[in-house]
Amino acid sequence: MIKIALDGPSGAGKSTVAKAIAKRLSIVYVDTGALYRSIGLYIQRLGIDKTDKEKIISQLPSIHLALEYKDGVQSVILNGEDVSGLIRTGEIAMYASAVSAIPEVRAFLLDTQRDIAHKNSVIMDGRDIGTVILPDAEVKIFMVASPEARAKRRYLELTEKGEKCTFESVLADIVERDKNDSTRKVAPAIPADDAVFLDNSDLDVEGTVDKALEIISSKVDIEAI
Ligand code: C5P
Repeated sequence: MIKIALDGPSGAGKSTVAKAIAKRLSIVYVDTGALYRSIGLYIQRLGIDKTDKEKIISQLPSIHLALEYKDGVQSVILNGEDVSGLIRTGEIAMYASAVSAIPEVRAFLLDTQRDIAHKNSVIMDGRDIGTVILPDAEVKIFMVASPEARAKRRYLELTEKGEKCTFESVLADIVERDKNDSTRKVAPAIPADDAVFLDNSDLDVEGTVDKALEIISSKVDIEAI
């Protein structure tokens, strides 16, 4: 069994790269952001303000989350409903960023994340995988790219899906989320001491995957996985 932690800021392309690597190594790709997004969706649906910590915490016992996998594709199940398609909006990303700063929310999601890594070989993408969730991961990669490069990719992704937005608004959201995610008191999105940096500002997907595989091979024997 192998654990690969892939952390980094929003829009660095973690999910695309993690999916490709999971396929290549025949391991499970775990998108932990989907868990925070699902809690964000639950809170948004109830009309609760995303800054109302007490109310958000009081809802946690009513939330049941599970990750399911079919042909390597992850679905997130919120109280029995597959919400995978509903959580990929800019609005829900902001809810996710807000709820993820609450320690009780992070504690609530800890076991779900560790359980999966305990039962499967995984590449897990998130913000605190190498520091908090899987501190004993054999490989830790911290993936970064300039805010502009990340905003460009996210803008294309959102407009392709038909969401109305401007490049400027996407860039502003990314800068705000970066600030939230890196300055919060609990589990800030910072690299583990033993993480390897991968800056993909000037790399395409293929180049980034190759680089990540190079890092992985330098730490473990990928033929033996
Ligand atoms: O990765 P994704 O953009 O889907 O994550 C949405 C939000 O969830 C992030 O902005 C971050 O605040 C939060 N998150 C987190 N820890 C993780 C994964 C996501 O705090 N492991």
